[in-house]
Amino acid sequence: MRIVLLGAPGSGKGTQANRLKLELHIPHVSTGDMLRAAVTAGTSIGRKAKAAMDAGQLVCDQILLAMLEERLSQEDMHDGFILDGYPRNLSQADALDHLLARIGQPLDAVVKLDVSNEAIIDRCRIRYAAEHRKDDDPLVVRGRLRIYAEQTAPLDDFYARRGLLQVVDGAHEPHEVTLRIKRALKLEPMVISD
Ligand code: AMP
Repeated sequence: MRIVLLGAPGSGKGTQANRLKLELHIPHVSTGDMLRAAVTAGTSIGRKAKAAMDAGQLVCDQILLAMLEERLSQEDMHDGFILDGYPRNLSQADALDHLLARIGQPLDAVVKLDVSNEAIIDRCRIRYAAEHRKDDDPLVVRGRLRIYAEQTAPLDDFYARRGLLQVVDGAHEPHEVTLRIKRALKLEPMVISD
């Protein structure tokens, strides 16, 4: 199964992707994790990406596409993947469409985790205290939410028009959100409540 997870920073994409990876036995591809690893390793991609990442801005599309193309061509991608953090704007969504068409692996579903900005600001504050990620600094988070609203939120329509979008309420405990995602993907029976 090939899935894209959408949602604002701090909406729980990473947590859910990790949980789904274990349940569905498909790899979790996080462009944020890949970039952080490149920064830590001091590669040329890492050096180019660091300033934008620290400021909570988007790293340029060409770097992301090259990185993703390489990752998606690896052996373990053949049974599907969970893409987290990509695409982040319409031009990346177009590039992804073309890339997946070229390798004959179109998306099965796009899951958007819906969480209010207030809840996100709270979650990032807690993560900032625990992990000290510069981009979780409360001031930077506001900027990231603005970029998300301007550049990433339009992807909801992009994928809804293709009949791929499933919106899941992400303001619950992680296990409950996973269950809701699996129901949306028809991997769990729907519960009819009155
Ligand atoms: P994330 O862990 O997904 O929140 O990503 C952390 C940071 O990595 C983002 O704030 C961006 O600076 C950068 N990044 C990750 N994915 C992308 C992407 N698809 N396009 C541009 N920048 C990205």
